[in-house]
Amino acid sequence: MIYSKPKFKEKYSNFINGKFVPPIGGEYFENTSPIDNSLIAKYPRSQKEDVELALDAANAAKEAWGNTSATERSTLLYKVADIIEEHLEEFALVETCDNGKPIRETLNADIPLAIDHWRYFAACIRSEEGSASELDANTLSMNIKEPLGVIAQIIPWNFPLLMLSWKLPPALVTGNCVILKPAEQTPSSATLLMEKIADVFPPGVVNIIHGFGPEAGKPLASSSRVDKVAFTGETTTGQLIMQYASKNLNPVTMELGGKSPNVFFNSVMDEDDAFLDKAIEGAVLFAFNQGEVCTCPSRLLVQEGIYDAFMERVIARTNAIIQGNPYDVNTMLGAQASNDQYEKIQAYLKIGKEEGAKVLAGGEANKLSGNLAEGFYIKPTILEGHNKMRVFQEEIFGPVVCVTKFKDEAEAIAIANDTLYGLGAGVWTRDAHQLYQIPRAIKAGRVWVNCYHAYPAHAPFGGYKKSGFGRENHVMMLNYYRQTKNMLISY
Ligand code: NAD
Repeated sequence: MIYSKPKFKEKYSNFINGKFVPPIGGEYFENTSPIDNSLIAKYPRSQKEDVELALDAANAAKEAWGNTSATERSTLLYKVADIIEEHLEEFALVETCDNGKPIRETLNADIPLAIDHWRYFAACIRSEEGSASELDANTLSMNIKEPLGVIAQIIPWNFPLLMLSWKLPPALVTGNCVILKPAEQTPSSATLLMEKIADVFPPGVVNIIHGFGPEAGKPLASSSRVDKVAFTGETTTGQLIMQYASKNLNPVTMELGGKSPNVFFNSVMDEDDAFLDKAIEGAVLFAFNQGEVCTCPSRLLVQEGIYDAFMERVIARTNAIIQGNPYDVNTMLGAQASNDQYEKIQAYLKIGKEEGAKVLAGGEANKLSGNLAEGFYIKPTILEGHNKMRVFQEEIFGPVVCVTKFKDEAEAIAIANDTLYGLGAGVWTRDAHQLYQIPRAIKAGRVWVNCYHAYPAHAPFGGYKKSGFGRENHVMMLNYYRQTKNMLISY
């Protein structure tokens, strides 16, 4: 089955104070689909004055929203989840059109997972129990949690609705008002969501501002009228955002880049069985979902005893990946999200070859035919080399896996940790000792063992080192959006 490009209006607005509001300066930017480089629609090129309007709305709404009951807020989050679910296919198509990822991913993973995050945080807030203790016979010590106030959230383009759904639910359910800026490359699903839920929250509680980072993101992150900045994106952008927020002494959470190792020990090939098949899939499939995943297993580390035999199977599996029209339900690898990404990845392929990396698969753009000829497709690529090469060290954010071999556990750990980043990692082994000790030694916020890529709402997710700090998901997230007040009550 092949879906068609969804229909869009000619232009869209920001969502401020419960209404769709055109940009004050009247400027728009053109959003195009990476599938065929066709125009999608025009979106507001917001500036500081648009951000100020949203700040007025959010600040006016925060007192009343912060005083609503947890039950009331939880009910509204469930409502949002139901609305997205009702329109799941519409959201999936819009996401595929905007981002270029295959419809099978958006239909089966991105949007269902986004829905689950709304439900998860709706449930979390209801399961909380208060606590109080007696200091002495006449004094009660009681801690209460209060919202921070107004939250600025800035998100990237790689999982547009999912990143929004990692950010909005915990902030809203804890009683904060939010101004969220989607990435300029993928503004559509956030807009569609606002169209569907325009009346769900009181005016000013949720605001969406479109535009570019330096024009709309910077005034938002720099404002003294926000109480926290939650950011997901590149490490270098995160450094800028921290500078902006520090002027107001505002707390930040940083979900940044990665260069995740995926480590395969000899024992995965002890038998030719279902586990080995799963390991091959684990080396290949999660690296080649455009490679535009912050935890993309972009460094493949294979123990020398199995290197040749394992890589033979990995290469064969890679070459069997179906790349093509993202609207086709059989497509496994779609388009890169933008021309910038497309060019950046090709530049890294050139760098890799110049550094002496050997191309084991792909290694170039994939020129598709028909209307896809204008789209941004890169063949799934495997580069063989060593961990000091730039292609092993820098985040390419494309379907490019860099493979190297290691001798023993110590070398595997050393290579895995020889990176500025510490977001995700994979470890594959049948050895009970390695199952626990290798993940323990890897400096990363998430280690998958004998699996890769699941992002359940109840598992904390975030980075070590230059991959950021703070966590997303899990009930602990609630406290990233609250402050604690202690009351000492004498009676
Ligand atoms: P990016 O940093 O270029 O942009 C992210 C957002 O920041 C966009 O909305 C952009 O408009 C905004 N922005 C850019 N410059 C800004 C500025 N000066 N001031 C304020 N806002 C600004 O990142 P990207 O290219 O959109 O996304 C890819 C990156 O995101 C990768 O590095 C990836 O690893 C990372 N990522 C991390 C996670 C995680 O959870 N750790 C998840 C997804 C993506």
